[in-house]
Amino acid sequence: MVAMTKRNDTRAVKVGTVTIGAGHPIAVQSMCATRTQDVDATVEQAEAIRRAGGDVVRVAVDSARDVEALSEIRRQTAANLVVDLQENYRLAAQVAPHVDKIRYNPGHLYHHEKDKPAREKVRFLADVARAHDCAIRVGVNCGSVDPETKARHPEDDVAAMVDSALEHCRLLDDIGFTRYVVSLKDSHPRKVIEANTRFAAERPDVPLHLGVTEAGIPPEGVIKTRVAFEQLVSRGIGDTLRVSLTLPNPRKHEEIAVGRQILADIAAGRYRSVPVFDDDKLNIISCPSCSRVENERFVELAEAVKAMTAYAEAHALTIAVMGCRVNGPGETDDADLGLWCGPTHVNLKRRTETVGAYTYDEILPRLRDELDALIEARTAAV
Ligand code: SF4
Repeated sequence: MVAMTKRNDTRAVKVGTVTIGAGHPIAVQSMCATRTQDVDATVEQAEAIRRAGGDVVRVAVDSARDVEALSEIRRQTAANLVVDLQENYRLAAQVAPHVDKIRYNPGHLYHHEKDKPAREKVRFLADVARAHDCAIRVGVNCGSVDPETKARHPEDDVAAMVDSALEHCRLLDDIGFTRYVVSLKDSHPRKVIEANTRFAAERPDVPLHLGVTEAGIPPEGVIKTRVAFEQLVSRGIGDTLRVSLTLPNPRKHEEIAVGRQILADIAAGRYRSVPVFDDDKLNIISCPSCSRVENERFVELAEAVKAMTAYAEAHALTIAVMGCRVNGPGETDDADLGLWCGPTHVNLKRRTETVGAYTYDEILPRLRDELDALIEARTAAV
């Protein structure tokens, strides 16, 4: 862990053997991208992350069979484990005995048992966490803020993220559960900087987990993340972080080394000339992949999209490449062109509109057609 000089006076949140916040060194995390039910592969990856210096390792759990695998993974790794709950918050009761932290997304929580007030669902999660000595992360993502909160901020999606996070902090505080951290993530470093800065101004006591989600393939993914972390950590904001890169499984643990290098550079005052993330150029975002990836060709596809679209570099367009149906459909809504992977097909979207589903062999030429049409339409409009 890396020590920083000036830090916000956040409270301490214990996650297994690590303490996040209260001036403790900034903890560096990563997430397994293996199938959770493949116990051997997941243990191997969790251990690789831990050996690389990962303080916390996240695993996705979506089903009862994932929970079974998790109990075995727990036995075989010494890593501090956090579980990512997206599909069903009630699974928390089964996963909590095996992990040190539970992450929930307020936007996803909203859609489960819709008639039940958020307060009750949050109370359930807090009770489970308390009973099993777990911390909680309130993980807000710009692309999945609940529709009611979004509607309150029609012109400002950063304000919607901050509002959602503050609401969940109040819910947890009101029931006396304070062992939580918050994250506010987006794929654009500017929004990550704004959201975390605004949140920290309101709640300087709450430890923050920093991350630029779907940052993409190195080196661009590293640059986007560095831009955000340099701006935030230098202002004393951030108690733990994750660098989300699109990397093949055997290289996943490299996220830790990248995170540590950025922190070491900031601590030593080695700021690179902070690149302003260029809004006038083509922006390719891709998710870091996790156990939910539907087809292992995803990473290869993300790299192929980057190579194929190089000719359009001078156009201010965003192309998003996502690995699964859990986050893919929603997280691609803001992109000019979005791809999300299914087991045999890749779904192509033009903003929120579905274009069609194509095989892994068909998708690149189809994407090229769409990109050409978009460039032509933009050029004609100028
Ligand atoms: S988009 Fe899907 S595969 Fe990619 S990181 Fe998110 S949940 Fe995992």
